[in-house]
Amino acid sequence: MRVAIVDGYVDEPSCLGVPPYISPYPRYIYGMLRALKINPLYTTIDAIRENYKLKRSLYDFDLVIVIAGMVVPGKYLGGKPASLKELINLFPATLRKILVGPIVIELSDRERRLLENYEIFGFPFEHQLFRYLSRFAGHAESAQARGRDFVNRFAILGAEVVKQHPDFPNIICEIETYKGCYWRKCSFCIERIHGEPNQRDPMAVIAEIEALYNQGCRYFRLGNQTDFMSYMGDFSHEVPRPNAEKMWNFHREIWRRCPKIRTLHIDNVNPKTISEWREESREIIKCITVYQTPGNVAAMGLESADERVIEENSLAAHPDEVLDAIELINRYGKFVGYNGLPYFLPGLNFVAGLKGETRETFEKNYEFLESVMERGLLLRRINIRQVKIYPGTQMYGFGDRLLKKHKKHFKVFKEKVRKNIDNTMLRRVLPKGRKLTDLRCEVVEGNITFARQLATYPILVGIQGKYPRNEFLDARVVDYGRRSVTAIKC
Ligand code: SF4
Repeated sequence: MRVAIVDGYVDEPSCLGVPPYISPYPRYIYGMLRALKINPLYTTIDAIRENYKLKRSLYDFDLVIVIAGMVVPGKYLGGKPASLKELINLFPATLRKILVGPIVIELSDRERRLLENYEIFGFPFEHQLFRYLSRFAGHAESAQARGRDFVNRFAILGAEVVKQHPDFPNIICEIETYKGCYWRKCSFCIERIHGEPNQRDPMAVIAEIEALYNQGCRYFRLGNQTDFMSYMGDFSHEVPRPNAEKMWNFHREIWRRCPKIRTLHIDNVNPKTISEWREESREIIKCITVYQTPGNVAAMGLESADERVIEENSLAAHPDEVLDAIELINRYGKFVGYNGLPYFLPGLNFVAGLKGETRETFEKNYEFLESVMERGLLLRRINIRQVKIYPGTQMYGFGDRLLKKHKKHFKVFKEKVRKNIDNTMLRRVLPKGRKLTDLRCEVVEGNITFARQLATYPILVGIQGKYPRNEFLDARVVDYGRRSVTAIKC
C-alpha cells in the first residue's frame, strides 16, 4: 500500500510549519501510518513543484494526504505554501486524496465544491484521520489515549520522517505542548476551536524531542501552544498559575537526554499570565533564560492599546499588564548570548480592524510603543496585521467595515512603526560590530546572500558576497535595513 504525505505547510497563531520549520502534523500523520505498518513517503509542495517526475510518481499511489493552511499568512524565505488555487488542480481527480490542516477553517461552500476531489477532514483532524487510516489499512481500531495525549505515540513513531525533509538536518521541529486557550474570549481568535486547554504529558513531549534528536535534529521550538508560561500550570484558576518547579525539571530533563541541542526556543506567551502571577512567571523567565538558547522571543498579544477596543473585543491583557511583562522579560533576558543575540526578549502583536477601533486607537498604539522605547526596553519584533475574519468568531458578525474605513490609518501607523521604532530597536538589539554566529545561508540575490539563524523569529541578515545554500557562517553587523541587518563574514 503506497501512501504519500505532501506538506503544503501551515501557519497558525500557535503553530508554524513553513521551512525551515516542520510542524507536528506531518510527523503525527507519518507516525499514524507507521503504527498501521505502512511506510509512507513524505515530500513538500516545493519539492513537487520543482520535480515533475516526483509529482507524476504520486499519481500511482493509493492515497495522498495533503496538509495545508495559512491562517496567519506572512512572508516566507524558506518555502512557498500551497495555495487553494494550486491545490485544486494539483493531482488527477482519480487519485484518492485527503486534505487536512487549518485550511479547512476558512473554506467557503464554493471552495469546498472546487476541492470536491479531496476528502476534507475537520480540524483538528488527528482522531478522525486515524480512524480513517485504520479502516483504510484494514486494521481494527484500538483504544487510544484521550485528549492531546492521543498524539504521543504517533509523535515518537513519526520522528523518522524528518530525514525525508529536503532541508534536513537544517530544520526546526515545532513541538506541541498543549492545544486550546484558557481565555477563549478574544473576538477575532480562532484558537477557541481547540476548546479548553488540553495539555500533553511533559514526559511525552520530552520523549518526542529525544526521538527527533536521535534522528539528528538539533533545532527545536516549543511553539505549539497559546501560552508557554502556563504549560504544566494549575488551570483551576481563571488565569492559570504557572508551575516554575515543573518547568525547571522539564528543561533539565530535555538537556540531560539531548545535550547537543543547538536551538531551544519558545513562541507564544500570554502577558496576562505574567502580570497575574508575577513571582511564578519571574522564575519561569529565569528558567527560560538559563535553559533555552539565546535569540529567544516571547511573542505576546497586546493586539490594541486602546481600552475601548480591549473591552469591546474581550482581549486578555491591558497595556499596563503588557508593559509589566515586557519589563520583567527584559530584566532577565536582555543580556547578550554566545550567538550574538540577547537571550530572551518580548515580541508584540497588534491587530487592526477590531470592534471599537477609531483613528485614536492607532495613536494609542503608537504611544504605547513610544513608552516602551522611553523606558529603554527591548522588543525583538512587532507584528502588525489586519484582522482576518473567520466564521465562528465574534468578529464574523461584525465584519470588516472598520478594516476598510481605517485602511489609511493602518498604513500610516505601520509605516511609522517600521521607520521609527523597528529600526531603533534593531540598532539597540544588534549594535554595529556585533558578531552573529551560525547564520545559515538561504538565498543569493546579486552579490548578497541572505542568511538567518535557525531560531524563532530570526533576524534576516544580508551578507556581502555569494555563499552556497546551507553553508553556516559568522558575520559582523555593519549596517541596517528596515527589519534586517547587513553584515560582513568574519
Ligand atoms: S488570549 Fe485571546 S488571542 Fe490569545 S489565544 Fe486566547 S483567545 Fe486567542
